[in-house]
Amino acid sequence: KIYYDSDADLGALKDKTIVFLGFGNQGAAQAQNLRASGIPNDKIIVANRDDHYAADAKSKGFNVEHDFAKAAEVADVLFLLVPDQVQPRIFNGQFSPKLKDSVTIVVASGYNVFYNLLHFKASQDVVMVAPRMIGSSVRTLYEKGKGFPCFISVEQNGSGNALTTTLALSRAIGATKAGAIASSVREETAMDLFAEQALWPNIIALFREAYSVLKEVGCSDEALVYEMWMSKEPAEIFEAAAEEGFIEQLKHHSTVSQYGQLSGALKIDGTAIRAHFKEILHNQVLNGKFQKEFSKIEADLEKEGDENPINQLYTKSAESELGQGEKRVRARLGLS
Ligand code: NDP
Repeated sequence: KIYYDSDADLGALKDKTIVFLGFGNQGAAQAQNLRASGIPNDKIIVANRDDHYAADAKSKGFNVEHDFAKAAEVADVLFLLVPDQVQPRIFNGQFSPKLKDSVTIVVASGYNVFYNLLHFKASQDVVMVAPRMIGSSVRTLYEKGKGFPCFISVEQNGSGNALTTTLALSRAIGATKAGAIASSVREETAMDLFAEQALWPNIIALFREAYSVLKEVGCSDEALVYEMWMSKEPAEIFEAAAEEGFIEQLKHHSTVSQYGQLSGALKIDGTAIRAHFKEILHNQVLNGKFQKEFSKIEADLEKEGDENPINQLYTKSAESELGQGEKRVRARLGLS
């Protein structure tokens, strides 16, 4: 089901105090959209530590509360818009004990709710409003009077009116303008983590191996880097796929290219790929194995330099021929 503006009544938010925990990518965009939709500024509170995000919120005229317990006590709606890995610690430790029994808790990603990492009371509403866009696009599309793709769901209907509130909030941030798609934290998490752990890793690996194979027959780093991505041709292909269709966009390519791509894709037996993908989906994503693995490194994510596990992965990834070749080309071109 797809919900539009006409399905949503902003009146459902009348007199509600809406707290945004976090004023980053999504928080800044959604809070500004909500206010521009007519929610009074004195009904919006940005809860943030006293730093540059808080300063940004203040400079945009928002009321900022540094004391999370105070923000939690007055919230009728709480948007949880801090990074997923810090949500359980902050929410369970500082917000949950102070929240009203009737509060509506809004997540923008299914992760923590699907893996049961947040503690709610049965009387509370737990809903998802998950834009499929980065925050800056959530804001600019709203300013242009356009909507953006968004998944919404009610995960816990403590009030009995959670869908009405979800639709009103979705409309206020601009999500029902283009149509908000009914989903669930399970569906959102499965698709999101599958894309991150199966689809894109394979695409990265395909580019990495293609680079090495072409390098072996004498292709230069410059030619490879431009041919494969720096020309922005792949970006244009995906743009055309979204506009005209995933396969249909091939018609813009040369006849040699069309024949090569279509016949080549059909020749690839997908059995092994499908088995590999199913393994990741079932035995890594849906069964929570990845979440457990990730939770073990969470504490190290705030470390600097080589002690940060993500920095270690960047260092390792840069060792590939693709990584080394691109580094040489960018240095020669004076790019950082
Ligand atoms: P950001 O990384 O932009 O969040 C930054 C905000 O979180 C700042 O206000 C920051 O304030 C606060 N924050 C960070 N660490 C802490 C901490 N340890 N304690 C308290 N506050 C902290 O988050 P996003 O906007 O990217 O993500 C928010 C949610 O939106 C997530 O659930 C994400 O999955 C979802 N989402 C994100 C999208 C995106 O485009 N990035 C797209 C769709 C959904 P400070 O550090 O000053 O305290």
